[in-house]
Amino acid sequence: MNSRSLPANDPDIQTVDWTPTRSAGLKRLEQFVGRSGQAYADTRNFDLGPADRSNTTALSPWIRHRLITEVDVLSAVLARHNPVECEIFVQEVFWRGYFKGWLEQRPSVWASYLQDLDSALQNPGSDYEDAISGRTGIDCFDAWAAELVETGYLHNHARMWFASIWIFTLGLPWQLGADFFLQHLMDADPASNTLSWRWVGGLHTKGKTYLARAENIARYTNGRFHPKGLAATAIPLTESVAHPVCPIPPLAAPPDGPFLLLLTLEDVGGAALMPHEPEAVVGLHGPVDSRSARPQTDFAFGALGHALAKWRQDPIAVRDWAETLLNKVEATGVRRIVTPYAPIGPVRSALDAAEPLLIRQGIEVIRVRRGYDSLVWPHATRGFFGLKKQIPQFLKDLHLTE
Ligand SMILES: Cc1cc2nc3c(=O)[nH]c(=O)nc-3n(C[C@H](O)[C@H](O)[C@H](O)COP(=O)(O)OP(=O)(O)OC[C@H]3O[C@@H](n4cnc5c(N)ncnc54)[C@H](O)[C@@H]3O)c2cc1C
Repeated sequence: MNSRSLPANDPDIQTVDWTPTRSAGLKRLEQFVGRSGQAYADTRNFDLGPADRSNTTALSPWIRHRLITEVDVLSAVLARHNPVECEIFVQEVFWRGYFKGWLEQRPSVWASYLQDLDSALQNPGSDYEDAISGRTGIDCFDAWAAELVETGYLHNHARMWFASIWIFTLGLPWQLGADFFLQHLMDADPASNTLSWRWVGGLHTKGKTYLARAENIARYTNGRFHPKGLAATAIPLTESVAHPVCPIPPLAAPPDGPFLLLLTLEDVGGAALMPHEPEAVVGLHGPVDSRSARPQTDFAFGALGHALAKWRQDPIAVRDWAETLLNKVEATGVRRIVTPYAPIGPVRSALDAAEPLLIRQGIEVIRVRRGYDSLVWPHATRGFFGLKKQIPQFLKDLHLTE
């Protein structure tokens, strides 16, 4: 990769319209799709800064909330390029499913992250305050901290460098850094975020770390940064707990009869999974971390609000939501709630906590998983390489290639 492979200015896609609707996501996809072949492979590692987002899709917030799906993205890209041309792009898309499936089968990773985060937040210290306020004196790091807070987005390479500097140069607990990202990213995702931080620190691929190097940062930021004082080594983090593998719950079929559809931030597009129109629709507004930043909440709640607008519904808050839901169920007379499957994370925990109350009232709760997730997740058993080998078969099974 060299400077000749930098993307040409393309004003249509340099800036991103972060409107949280399916149509805005599809428009960005359509604008980008021509660049998802060799141009993406050649240029994707450059972080050109917030004024130029033309070398990656920036679609992660839409994909995160399933305003658009991985299948939407893959089918657009494969309709334009042959599978060899867009191989790198396709692999990146499958990284998301890999992380989702991996965490789904090791829920204790999320639980222990939350526990360790609680302890770390008791006394985070002044170095932590300096880091999140962009006052470390490391030029790139301070700029990315500010960019994240202001925009709710960072380029993938910036996320890798940032996490590496956080852990190995500043010596801060990775859980605090992951939490900083989770509060601010518009695409904040329990699986991709937690596991990427663990990957950088050497906990995901045991013993393999990612070291941020000054020359690499200068080169791939096109000379915008020349950081000084970065750690010269990255000694892998260790942990004393083991994380047992748990099976992915069996697939539930969508219902035949009447039902109430419960939409959550995990999958605001979940109505597309249902075989027929629901009797009523409810949207769950949260759980919300009170520290969540504005770009993130604007995107997430905007996405849910737009999804609910079709049914003229307002979202309900998580506090006492099981009771609110019960009232809605009583009002519509249905005895069945159907919701898109929520993977490990805050929404899943809220559903798990409420379900017993609903069941005690004789209400059936069905969680419908997307076919893509059921296809991909079981292959996230070890490293990404194992799953990557399955990609040609996944594409056939999804009827995206012959
Ligand atoms: C420390 C760290 C934290 C991260 N936290 C998150 C997070 O909270 N949420 C999140 O969605 N991604 C996260 N990522 C992954 C990645 O940085 C983003 O998905 C990507 O930068 C989004 O930009 P894009 O849409 O332009 O990606 P593109 O390059 O255009 O890729 C297309 C899509 O593929 C998926 N994808 C691409 N790369 C990755 C990857 N490495 N891992 C997982 N999925 C990927 C995303 O859905 C992305 O929208 C993290 C990475 C690191 C290193």
